[in-house]
Amino acid sequence: MALDGEYDPQNIFAKILRGEAPCVRVFEDDAVLSFMDIFPQTRGHTLVLPKSPARNLFDVSEDALTGVINRTRMIAAAVREALQPDGVRIVQFNGAPAGQTVFHLHFHILPVFDGEDFGAHASGGPADAGELEKLAERIRAAI
Ligand code: 5GP
Repeated sequence: MALDGEYDPQNIFAKILRGEAPCVRVFEDDAVLSFMDIFPQTRGHTLVLPKSPARNLFDVSEDALTGVINRTRMIAAAVREALQPDGVRIVQFNGAPAGQTVFHLHFHILPVFDGEDFGAHASGGPADAGELEKLAERIRAAI
């Protein structure tokens, strides 16, 4: 999908935001929703998205971007406290050629652990729901 174009209100994150599809929730306020990635690349892979519709970094309002990046840092700090990774990667893709697969802007929080495998982007198997809930509970407790 090209960088320019219409926002598709049927994308999976729009459905999750409307409560039409499930997620393992980490944090929510008036500006953002954060939940566990269902195909995690690392243990604790968490997503943060603005509630307002935007396909990518280039069509989000400054206010929404400020909201989502500040919450991303806050939630990443909680991931850090809860899971004690050796490093934390923050990733964001724009356009299918760059690796974007869901066209509602989001930031990936990827804790990195020395000696643990880092999975391929958006191509692994779905995580065990119970495991995701346990990780989310630990992150929520650190927010
Ligand atoms: P993108 O490739 O657009 O940057 O990232 C999309 C991310 O959303 C991928 O890491 C993928 O694993 C994740 N994802 C795709 N579908 C779902 C879903 O239905 N639920 C959750 N929680 N994550 C999803």
